[in-house]
Amino acid sequence: MQVRRAQLDELELPLVEPFETSFGVEKRRRLLLLTLRGQSGEEGVGECVAARDPLYSSESVATARWMLQEYLLPPLLRDRVATPADFVDRTRALKGHSMAKAAAEMALWDLYAREHGRSLSAMLGGRRRRVEVGVSVGIQPSVDALVRRVGSYLEDGYHRVKLKVRPGWDLEPVRAVRRAYPDLRLWVDANQAYPPSAAGSIARWASRFEVEQVEQPFAEHAIEAHRQLNRGGRFRVCLDESIVDRASLDDALERSALSSLNVKPGRVGGLTVSRDLAGAAKSSRVPAWVGGMLETGVGRAHGVALASIDSFSFPADLSASRRYYLSEIIDRPFELGPASTLEVPRGPGIGVELVERAVARARRRRRTFRSSDY
Ligand SMILES: [Mg+2]
Repeated sequence: MQVRRAQLDELELPLVEPFETSFGVEKRRRLLLLTLRGQSGEEGVGECVAARDPLYSSESVATARWMLQEYLLPPLLRDRVATPADFVDRTRALKGHSMAKAAAEMALWDLYAREHGRSLSAMLGGRRRRVEVGVSVGIQPSVDALVRRVGSYLEDGYHRVKLKVRPGWDLEPVRAVRRAYPDLRLWVDANQAYPPSAAGSIARWASRFEVEQVEQPFAEHAIEAHRQLNRGGRFRVCLDESIVDRASLDDALERSALSSLNVKPGRVGGLTVSRDLAGAAKSSRVPAWVGGMLETGVGRAHGVALASIDSFSFPADLSASRRYYLSEIIDRPFELGPASTLEVPRGPGIGVELVERAVARARRRRRTFRSSDY
């Protein structure tokens, strides 16, 4: 593949409602969208999941823009790359910046699939026509509001609900949701909010209220604390932020520190790495599932294609477009289908198209790079 032109758009989109986790509150999403045009004239698009500020990770919109401009786009515009995996190999020596790398890698995958006239799902080896999904529910103003919110998602048709928790917002909300919905498939995610000393109390409320899995309760480097919690066996311990690459996953698997794996392609460097992580987890009989990071329809489409691979067996955090955004920047928007599923687009590439008008409305800046610039 030869990339002739790269366009980097910075967008700002209002969320349907503020999304609060143990890291903070997001009301409007700032993000980068990267469009790569190949020699064929086809275009591939990738979304960068870095947030405006470096709170969730060390990356931000500004660091990702810089990384793309200085290090990731020049080799793409100067040289040919055979495949997206080839790009991953060539940029491996560059430390960190996995979100910036993922944006470029995923845009390349879309372009690669379109140049072959095939869907991204098919190119990745996916076989599912629909993928099972759940919904992630942020911290709410009150327990009553949470129970009502969960109820509205169940009415929408979601079968699995993940509650964001943190110290002080755990036992009561989990108890109330469990009482209101006794058969619900219930997960919680703490985004590292607890000290290891909280393991005993987490184990008590998670077991008592039949929480199926507890995601990333402790700091990303606290593998030993996760291992100890995972020994109880009454609920799964899911790792998310702790897993940054294949080496960190192999180490955590070796130590039995996890019994579920959240794979976020936008966080770990793209689809090539994600597919590899899920395969490794499956070989160790640890179920993997595709996570989300408030992506627009672009990142959502990449996630749905990834989730269509057999290595993923648990319902993804990929909800319908209207769960997150008032207006979607792709056509067609994702809608929840039967049995809590999203349909895997079958058209070329990610199978959805950017709506130029919507992108233009959300655009805050744009920069175009050409082969001749380098
Ligand atoms: Mg998480």
